[in-house]
Amino acid sequence: MTKTALMKAMVLRGPRELGPAEVERPAPAHNQVLVRVTHSGVCGTDLHIYEGAIPARYPLIMGHEMIGEVVEGEDATLKRGDRVIVDPAMYCGMCVNCRAGQTNLCPNGSLVGRDSNGGFADYLVAPRTHVYPLPAAIDSSVAPLIQVATTCMHGHHRMNIFPGQSVVVVGLGVAGQIHVQLAKAWGAYPVIGITRSAYKRNLAGQLGADITMSSGAEAVRGVKEATDGRGADVVIECTGVPSALADAMNMVRLGGTLLLFGITSATQATLPFYQLYYKELNVVNTRAAKGEDFPPTIDLVARGALKLKPLVTHIVPLHDLEKAIGMLESDEDQRMKVILENAQ
Ligand SMILES: [Zn+2]
Ligand SMILES: [Zn+2]
Repeated sequence: MTKTALMKAMVLRGPRELGPAEVERPAPAHNQVLVRVTHSGVCGTDLHIYEGAIPARYPLIMGHEMIGEVVEGEDATLKRGDRVIVDPAMYCGMCVNCRAGQTNLCPNGSLVGRDSNGGFADYLVAPRTHVYPLPAAIDSSVAPLIQVATTCMHGHHRMNIFPGQSVVVVGLGVAGQIHVQLAKAWGAYPVIGITRSAYKRNLAGQLGADITMSSGAEAVRGVKEATDGRGADVVIECTGVPSALADAMNMVRLGGTLLLFGITSATQATLPFYQLYYKELNVVNTRAAKGEDFPPTIDLVARGALKLKPLVTHIVPLHDLEKAIGMLESDEDQRMKVILENAQ
């Protein structure tokens, strides 16, 4: 019996009860990799777990967007010290959905950092299947955003964008800015970004949006004008707000596609349902990501076709996690992604 090694972690002991602690360092089993976490991203899911809005089993180490260095679990293609990103979406591999390749829909699935201990710690153990090497061209301080980008990539896998098609992205937070860049990568034109925030419109313009406009009724008119009166071929809704979803349904062309990326938690909402029928809209839902989404996303970032650096506005040390979560709670317009750094 070896003596248990300890590590530092940010432990959530109940809603809004978060602090540093020394905990047992996880040990990798067969086909698992021990990763020293160097950088992780804080996201709305963490905020909701912290607040108690998403139920969790305590004590919990949150964090599902993390990268780090391989410490144990090397094999022919993975060396000690390699930088890797961990896919936090676990699945059983045996249910009907998994066997059909829909691992993101596995009813026995779980999320690292919500259902099991995650990346806001010195170390994390992950199945070898969920670990992807990062090329040297990718900066560690932006790499946790690749996890977010894979969820966008999954949405794009669920529909088709062809060169020259018009694409509207409603809501230009971190995910919206990634959707703008993916639409450009597929050759869409024009790519139109919509948000109330002048800061985010400017950022989308820098990242390739051909046109940006403020949200609301004028945006519905603006999209029609920019598409010769037809409406957009594809509208990607990233806010989850029913009024924005209604606008999105009014912006898309007859026979067009609406990707519902923003999570709409409203149980009742007034939407222009007649438009669904009249326009014969293709409504596409998307949930989380799959393993297949990681390699192409990593490749796009390595090639510079998907720029993540402009989306990171704050880098704070891991022990300031509570402060970082507080930043998410405040409605600061010029805050995009907050990255936690865990220096050795
Ligand atoms: Zn997240
Ligand atoms: Zn399954």
